[in-house]
Amino acid sequence: MHIVHSISDLRAVLGPLGRPAFVPTMGNLHDGHIALMRRAVQLGEVPVASIFVNRLQFLPHEDFDSYPRTWDADCERLAAAGCQVLFAPRERDLYPEPQTFKILPDSQLADLLEGEFRPGFFTGVCTVVMKLFSAVFAGKTSGIAVFGQKDYQQLMVVRRMVQQFTLPIDIVANPTERAPDGLALSSRNGYLSASERAEAVALSRALRTLGEAAKAAGDALPAQREALEQAARAQLDARGWQTDYLSVRRRSDLLAPKPGDALVVLGAARLGPTRLIDNLEI
Ligand code: AMP
Repeated sequence: MHIVHSISDLRAVLGPLGRPAFVPTMGNLHDGHIALMRRAVQLGEVPVASIFVNRLQFLPHEDFDSYPRTWDADCERLAAAGCQVLFAPRERDLYPEPQTFKILPDSQLADLLEGEFRPGFFTGVCTVVMKLFSAVFAGKTSGIAVFGQKDYQQLMVVRRMVQQFTLPIDIVANPTERAPDGLALSSRNGYLSASERAEAVALSRALRTLGEAAKAAGDALPAQREALEQAARAQLDARGWQTDYLSVRRRSDLLAPKPGDALVVLGAARLGPTRLIDNLEI
């Protein structure tokens, strides 16, 4: 596995090679990231990963400084999964000067759910993804990038960005990898104490219960949705969580569903200091 830090070194390594299949990450890799990497190995000619904790997508009070960094273990896992090139830019490689040009995503999609509770988050995500894409895919006529469904709204935002800017990149979605009890794998799970870890599965259970209630409501869902969401939220909060949202949306655009729409249930909630997100297509 080639490890490169600067964009010029990355381009020198990738130049003579084929079509990249790219997995952007913030490191502290778990089986969810590795599943993405394996998918990239299956799909592309040149499996590429990046590790970069992107300051732009953290709010001032969030965990940028304490975000877990596990470089040696990450390199071992990526190499074992078949990664051919690891791009690990330092801050000065990606942001040599303040990033004053930014990607402003469609507010209809990016200002709700995560965007409501983390204002500017998707601007930070889109801006870094565009920079990473430009570093990895420069000079290529096409490529693949693999993202996790765990970050459902992020995946949709990135897809729309790629579509609107007609980037020659196929965005591939990989399903959410879970622990045996159902908790979605996340780098932030490492923040949980033993008792919080045991409780954490309640988020995916709440999504499942809300999804079942939404399905049972059938055509009455538009009328009942808010009450069902409130009840789900009250149950989770009663267990000691602070819920940002638990919501049934339609898959196509994450707006309120109408009868017959394909549905997804999305949630974000804090357990102690740790904010977890998850979702379930129903
Ligand atoms: P992150 O390092 O958290 O920025 O995530 C990097 C990529 O891994 C994103 O595309 C995430 O959606 C994806 N990812 C994170 N957790 C999981 C998971 N449990 N299952 C599948 N993909 C995941």
